[in-house]
Amino acid sequence: MFVEVLLIVFMALAAVFILMLLRAAYMPTKQIASKKAPEPMEFDLDAASEKLAASLRFRTVSGAGFDEEAEAEFLKLHEHLRKSYPNVFLKSEVTVHGGRSLLLRLFGKDKTLKPVIFMGHMDVVPVEASSTDRWLKPAFGGTVEEGFIWGRGALDCKHVVSGLLEAMETLLVSGYEPVRGIYLAFGHDEETGGANGAAAIGTFLEAEGTKAWMVLDEGGKVDCPGHITGRPLEAVVSIVEKGFASFRLDVDIPGGHSARPPKENAISVLIKAADRVNNHVFTPRLKGPLADLLGFAGTEMGFWKRLAIANMWIAKPFVVGWLGSSPSTDCLMRTTAVTTILKAGMKDNVIPSHAEAIVNTRPAFGETPESVRCELERAICDKRVKITASGHQHTPSNASSVDCDQFRLLQEAIARHFEDPVVIPGILTGGTDTKHYANLSDAVYRFIPIKLAHELAEGVHGINERIPVDEYGRMIAFYMDFMREATR
Ligand SMILES: [Zn+2]
Repeated sequence: MFVEVLLIVFMALAAVFILMLLRAAYMPTKQIASKKAPEPMEFDLDAASEKLAASLRFRTVSGAGFDEEAEAEFLKLHEHLRKSYPNVFLKSEVTVHGGRSLLLRLFGKDKTLKPVIFMGHMDVVPVEASSTDRWLKPAFGGTVEEGFIWGRGALDCKHVVSGLLEAMETLLVSGYEPVRGIYLAFGHDEETGGANGAAAIGTFLEAEGTKAWMVLDEGGKVDCPGHITGRPLEAVVSIVEKGFASFRLDVDIPGGHSARPPKENAISVLIKAADRVNNHVFTPRLKGPLADLLGFAGTEMGFWKRLAIANMWIAKPFVVGWLGSSPSTDCLMRTTAVTTILKAGMKDNVIPSHAEAIVNTRPAFGETPESVRCELERAICDKRVKITASGHQHTPSNASSVDCDQFRLLQEAIARHFEDPVVIPGILTGGTDTKHYANLSDAVYRFIPIKLAHELAEGVHGINERIPVDEYGRMIAFYMDFMREATR
């Protein structure tokens, strides 16, 4: 009898495993091959690189409040762009928003078609004074040397601004007339939230009743090797952006003399709360954009991960364990929360009566700042800790579709311009200016057509920011090709 039961259990397990194998084997690939080579289009890469390098010399640093020096630098950058790409400025309607942001609108031949909006930003993050001696070339020198274009903004993201303008200039010189309109929208305060730049452009377009066929901004790139699949080239097109919400924790408990400390005080209660926040694990959200991501990645992965992704009905814990094994993948599936500021005390022999902390969270798709606040309250579970919202808060963006012409067009263009890439719909954990364009289109994607090794990507907001000249050439060729395909 016992042997029979064992045999039945074994056969049932074998049947389940065979079913899992079949599901993995027949999991449909979402990757598409390049149908054709891009139409060749000549442009002068040396001259284009010099123009980008020159734009890096303007210190268009994003900071808090109005800054006269930065203002003048922005105006000089505008003038440089106007001179460098004369046809774009001549043939487009140019408007300035929020004082320094630019919107260039090249209207299409068919006015009934919705335009494509290409976004970028002209501001850059500051260079830390303590780091200047570690830059191999001056941060605001803007030079082309050793096969790279060097300077703050080369990767975030004046290369996008100049690359788009270069592509459009070349197309216009060749006599190209788009059927669908092409809008270029360049913000000036993305690094501080975009409240005056992109927000002003977004409000302006919304008030006009503009709806865009598609919006393309920074926020994804081609990683080599890939973070998710480990494949040599992984193109991440972000389809959603996580939210942003900071909270302030306040604890008020009467203090006193440090020679007679009570069991608990404001600091000890706050530290316990901060620790609970840091160790709190939010529920994984495997549906929606993460399901899209896994659907595209699954067929490109090794045997066990492919088996698990194809069989989420039984292998969900394995997938959650795998994603959770690294902070860079864990943050894709759930809300994160971490204490970033602590303040308390003013004298070594006084127990303070007040202690406060700031917790920064990134709400996952499907959550809101308020739902996160409630969860933090439950996690801290201490009425003495008051939790209130701090600073600007954003709910996660809508998730754009991966099953539409816009996404397919991007996927095809990526396949044409990169060697055997895997395309993955990404979840952006940082923020972009697209949050101000949410009402303009259902198809909002974040992708820069550039292949970046990890050590070069560290230049973003870091030191020795530089872009390889040939990658900049690839970006321009990609933008020309994609502009034509999306607007013909
Ligand atoms: Zn940026």
